[in-house]
Amino acid sequence: MLRLDVVTVFPDYLAPLHLALLGRAVDRGIVSIGVHDLRDWTHDVHRSVDDTPFGGGPGMVMRPTVWGEALDDLVGSPSVDDSPPEVEPPSRGDDDERPLLIVPTPAGRPFTQSDAQRYARRRHLLFACGRYEGIDQRVVDEASQVMDVEEVSIGDYVLIGGEVAVLVIAEAVVRLLPGVLGNRRSHEEDSFSDGLLEGPSYTRPEVWRDRAVPEVLKSGNHAKIDRWRRDESLRRTAERRPDLLAAAELDARDREVLAE
Ligand code: SAM
Repeated sequence: MLRLDVVTVFPDYLAPLHLALLGRAVDRGIVSIGVHDLRDWTHDVHRSVDDTPFGGGPGMVMRPTVWGEALDDLVGSPSVDDSPPEVEPPSRGDDDERPLLIVPTPAGRPFTQSDAQRYARRRHLLFACGRYEGIDQRVVDEASQVMDVEEVSIGDYVLIGGEVAVLVIAEAVVRLLPGVLGNRRSHEEDSFSDGLLEGPSYTRPEVWRDRAVPEVLKSGNHAKIDRWRRDESLRRTAERRPDLLAAAELDARDREVLAE
């Protein structure tokens, strides 16, 4: 079972983790999800999690003291700070694999499908949702002593907080876990699984508003259908994401299609 812990100042933001396919994965025991309020690790009356930045500048930075205690508790390490709230440390399984701390940040490495595949093979993912100007960098540096840590971005734009990024990453990972999707081929044939974008899809009716479904898809000839899908996938990738072609495995026929 994959253990997924999220630390946030807005636990309600993560409610979709319990809906639809993700919720079903929880019900079936494929994944367990813990959403934790960072403010539970504060000790002051205002339950404050941020402070002004050293060096000046706009905005606030999330305090390392609060984050440090939260992460210590969630990985089951002894806390150096006092009176932590009671949180059941997750089981780490039979092996000694370290938890993976994922810190969403626009300054991170771009999150990709191959990251999702890697994360889906882990036992314990821990997400730290930043707010304001982000989290004091020492939290990441310190955590890397006891966890694997990755700072990842979900795109070249700036969100208000890390919660939406966590929903994106969690959904991309959980759908890859065995038993979550009805048909394994669904994700094996998705965009990026072979390094290319997926081509167009069609369903009934055969003609809709004078637009007909491509004949080949109704031919019943699976070799021809596979070739057509591959060609469409190559053309779409060349048009929309030519950067992906450099890393894709292409044969001579693929190159002919791209040269057309
Ligand atoms: N000062 C930060 C910067 O310029 O890199 C931006 C902080 S942003 C306003 C607040 C939080 O939103 C970040 O700590 C992160 O958790 C989240 N966030 C914003 N954009 C993101 C993105 N593209 N990918 C992942 N997380 C993002």
